[in-house]
Amino acid sequence: MKKLINDPASVVQDMLEGLALADDRLVLIAGEDIVVRKDFQSALTAGKVSIISGGGAGHEPAHAGYVGAGMLTAAVAGPVFTSPSVDAILNAILTTAGPAGVLLIVKNYTGDKLNFGLAAEIARASGVNVEILVVGDDVALDDKSSVGRRGVAGTVLIHKIAGAAADAGLTLSQVKAEAEHAAQGLFTMGIGLSACTVPAAGKPGFSIESDQVEFGLGIHGESGVRREKIQSAKVMISSLIDRIVAQGDLQTGSKVLLMVNNLGGTAVQELDIVAREAMHQCSHHGLSVERAMVGTFLTALEMAGASVTLLKLDDALIDRLEAPTDAYAWKGLTSPSVELKSIIGKTSTAVTTVAGCAWTQVASFKAVISHVMKTLISSEPLLTELDSVVGDGDIGISLSRGASAVLQESDQLAWNHPGQALQQISAILRRTLGGTSGPLYSVFVLRAGLELSKQSSPESVAAWAKAFQAGCEGVTGLGGAGKGDRTMLDAMLPAAAALIASPSGDGARRAAEATAKAARQGAEETKSMLPMKGRSSYIGNRALGHVDPGAQAVSIWIDAVAAAISKH
Ligand code: ADP
Ligand code: MG
Repeated sequence: MKKLINDPASVVQDMLEGLALADDRLVLIAGEDIVVRKDFQSALTAGKVSIISGGGAGHEPAHAGYVGAGMLTAAVAGPVFTSPSVDAILNAILTTAGPAGVLLIVKNYTGDKLNFGLAAEIARASGVNVEILVVGDDVALDDKSSVGRRGVAGTVLIHKIAGAAADAGLTLSQVKAEAEHAAQGLFTMGIGLSACTVPAAGKPGFSIESDQVEFGLGIHGESGVRREKIQSAKVMISSLIDRIVAQGDLQTGSKVLLMVNNLGGTAVQELDIVAREAMHQCSHHGLSVERAMVGTFLTALEMAGASVTLLKLDDALIDRLEAPTDAYAWKGLTSPSVELKSIIGKTSTAVTTVAGCAWTQVASFKAVISHVMKTLISSEPLLTELDSVVGDGDIGISLSRGASAVLQESDQLAWNHPGQALQQISAILRRTLGGTSGPLYSVFVLRAGLELSKQSSPESVAAWAKAFQAGCEGVTGLGGAGKGDRTMLDAMLPAAAALIASPSGDGARRAAEATAKAARQGAEETKSMLPMKGRSSYIGNRALGHVDPGAQAVSIWIDAVAAAISKH
């Protein structure tokens, strides 16, 4: 287990202290894991109902993140994934109860129901007006099962609705009625990609194969209803929405809110993909998505995966959901687009090139370029591995993406004017490569192409040597690196020198071989160089012993040039 904690035993307390230290609007009840809004007394004086929720920790930002004016008055945290004790809940009730009473919002899990239920009973016995609302929104399980549906991420929406109703001055029974009405139209289902580790347990709650996903799991790392091979987001999210629509009996034309919730360990980009699929699927079912929420609202520690919630909406509920609140984790709602809108950008893709004189080596030139591109594509795994060690692992993918684009647009290139063809290739690379390699290769090929266009005999080794040198000057000029900085230039510069030094009578094949040898040696030497430029410079001497991926890529493509020339 690797976690940013002090001690598994003090995780909940340390976390809540962090929260209250960082936000002056929150206070803790001494000796308890309970977060209260600092100004709760003024709400009580104003005759407002208090709203309390909570449950086991591990669902952050729930529940403490929803404490604040307009949402929860207090949140009670138990140990990770374990219900808080009756006494802790009772303490929260007695501390925050005013004449208007208290509504407890409880997720439907047995432990929570029992502990919150008993605390409510004891509080009532001492004269406090307490009501409980149990939320069960998880449609993975049938609501006809004996324990009913579990309460999961959708509960956050009920916190908001109840909090806004209380803030508006409604009585306890009115607040409960509004929240209950909303909870009846609330449906959630989740999908898990990985398990999570409870700090005190020290190991993941369950194991899941790397190609499997768990459908309909709860929020405590408990298993779901079925395990399946992973499929596209489209297929998986469609199946969630289909189940929600069927279980919720949502009819065409229904107005809904869509909530996409991160279970804890999911990349933001994946959440947006889930949102895309959910929006499409809702539209396929004829639902009208009036509002949306995409983010991290109720988690299961660091579990990878997401849940999707639909809440039936009417105008009164929208007002409650859009009423202001201080709670830091309430992100607010967005109004979805009915169609995907885009605007036309201003980037010009037109390329003005200089032609230069025509030549006769069209077939071999085409063969060389094609072989170089195919070699870069097949070298993708090797380059990815090298860049994963010293960089961010993308150079192989970048170069192979650029190479595929060149092959794809091959028919449009001016093959009988090599300098012009290189300028066109530069434009393709500029559009497709990205990263650091993108602009550097783009300028390399552009300068080489412009230089070659100036040459009167473009088939000569001397012309290509000048072009190569001009390309290198472009790279040093744009990137500011020099020899020995551990970059692609450490393969390019020795290669350029070898090409320039090739005796004119030796022919293209010998020149290419000498150039490739120099590039190979140059790349090898980067193993002992300290990175001074680019991303590798962040890791300093940890790069030593590994070849620079950019230099290796240069050696690979020059080798490919030499191999293709020797065949023609
Ligand atoms: P990144 O992921 O850092 O944006 P790439 O993965 O596309 O970049 O390329 C990384 C390679 O770029 C490095 O291995 C190095 O050879 C080369 N590089 C980085 N900075 C420079 C520079 N200033 N000049 C020349 N080459 C550079
Ligand atoms: Mg990289």
